[in-house]
Order: sequence, then structure tokens, then C-alpha cells
Amino acid sequence: MSSIKENLGIIENKIQSACDRAGRKREEVLLIGVTKTRTADEVNEAVACGITDVGENKVQEIQDKYDKVAGNVKWHMIGHLQTNKVKYIIDKVALIHSVDKIKLAEEIDKRAKEHGIIAEVLIEVNAAGEESKFGTDLDGARALIAEVREKCKNIRIKGLMTIAPATDDPEDVRIYFKELKQLFDEYKAIKDENMSFEHLSMGMSGDYEVAIEEGATMVRVGTAIFGPRNYNLH
Ligand SMILES: *Cc1c(COP(=O)(O)O)cnc(C)c1O
Repeated sequence: MSSIKENLGIIENKIQSACDRAGRKREEVLLIGVTKTRTADEVNEAVACGITDVGENKVQEIQDKYDKVAGNVKWHMIGHLQTNKVKYIIDKVALIHSVDKIKLAEEIDKRAKEHGIIAEVLIEVNAAGEESKFGTDLDGARALIAEVREKCKNIRIKGLMTIAPATDDPEDVRIYFKELKQLFDEYKAIKDENMSFEHLSMGMSGDYEVAIEEGATMVRVGTAIFGPRNYNLH
């Protein structure tokens, strides 16, 4: 199996090529290393190879690894977040990618206020309407954005996130990335203290190049960096 360092080298080249094809600058795309099921040592190895931002999908894993991972790494909550667990990570994560309900936003707002911070979040859109996935549909996203802006003064909405359907051919999901980019651009034009769209979080190991071509500013890559996950070990 190839090393984290080798994998990151390959990914870096692919990100650069996708940026070139799309006429974008490399600095416009942040690579988030998705470290779920990985040990703190593995996370530190990736950090030593240049990863600055890590993504986790479980509150418990952030809590377990937080103190064991090198100091200035930024943590991203990318998975479904239960309302009763917001309090454990509110002061640990730089960005919550997975806001899909007003109840969750209100809890984030409340906890952010307690800590005297403004929580930065993305609205999770289930662009393909898959039943197995969290996230709101496109119309639901508009309604949710409006409601969060009205009610949650300790939240700043920074953009959108989506998880595309699993597929063998990334061309199949280009359409969903395009749709999300359209919505993103619409809201990007509106800026105030409650909302400032900068991040379009889309693309994973199987489809990050297509996502970059379609405008992703954050790609969340796990398997392509660390190899296949073994959930049984953890
Ligand atoms: C696991 C996960 C990823 C990374 O998936 P890979 O296919 O391993 O790159 C990205 N985003 C979310 C929300 C995830 O849960």
C-alpha cells in the first residue's frame, strides 16, 4: 500500500490539473483530510505532510483525537450532528458543514452565544434527493437559510455542502455539483453579518476532480489519502 505522503502527492497533482482545466487558482481549493476511523498518529502523519484541515463525521472521534493532534489544525464537522452533541464540539471546530434543520441551527446558536463566539456553518443540501442521506433539498435550503438568518444571530452561514451519490463514474454526479454551484452563486451576492458565502464543500475521493471543475472550494478526501477504511477496528 502506498504511503500517506505518496497519496497526497498524487492528489495534489490531480487537484492542480482540475484547477487548470477549470481556469481556477490552486489557492481557491482547500483539501480537507477526512480522518474518520483513523488514529491520532495517522492524522499527525498527514499533518506533517501538509494537511492543515481535517474532517470528522462523529463527535466522539473529534473528542478522542482533539488533544492528540498537532495544535494549529482546523477541525471540520462534516457528518450528521445530533442536537444534544453540539455542546461537545462548539468550541473545537472551525466549521460545521452539516446544518440541515432549524432545530440544529438553534442549538448551535445557543451554544455559540454561551461561548461568546460566532459559529461558522454550511447548509447541507441533499442535491440528488437520496432518501438515505441527510440534508435539505434546494427549496428547503432557501427556507432554512432565511430562517437561520432571522433567528440565529450567533451563526454566520458561510456556504453550502453536499454529498453526491456514490457512483462508479463521477460524470454521473456533475449535474448535482452544477446545481449546488448555481445556488451558491445566488447567495454569494448577498453579504451581511449573518451570511457570507465563501465555501462550497463538495467532492470526495471518487469525485473531487469533477467537483473542483464545477466550483468546489473545499474537497473532503479520506480514502484516497489514507486507504480503505476498516470500521471493524474502531
Ligand atoms: C467519509 C466522508 C468523506 C470522505 O469520503 P472518501 O470517499 O473516503 O473520500 C467526505 N465527506 C463526508 C461527509 C464523509 O462522511
